[in-house]
Amino acid sequence: MKIFAVDDSATMRKIVSLALKGAGHEIIEAEHGKDALAKLAGTTADCIILDINMPEMNGLEFLAERKKSPSISKIPVIVLTTQDESGMKDQALALGANAFLGKPFQKEDLLASVKKLLG
Ligand SMILES: [Mg+2]
Repeated sequence: MKIFAVDDSATMRKIVSLALKGAGHEIIEAEHGKDALAKLAGTTADCIILDINMPEMNGLEFLAERKKSPSISKIPVIVLTTQDESGMKDQALALGANAFLGKPFQKEDLLASVKKLLG
């Protein structure tokens, strides 16, 4: 599967990337929502792992843009949240997020979440 890792933290992108590559997935990294939208314009994705707090375009803004775009609105999104961001879950759900994963997470939790979404 082709999975987007959208996070402004290079460390977090690397953690997500290594875990998913180890499970045989292809990963495309993006630094924020705008970067992800630009990259999604040129390729497809089976799943998006999305950070909330990012410069340029945050996770909620990205979800709003995704909702408006028929070409990407069906791509499942797993939102990574910190404790502080748990209040944003309702907003993210309303904007179409499919699943949540609290940071920090175990590699196994991420893989299980992706597997559950992609079947
Ligand atoms: Mg962030």
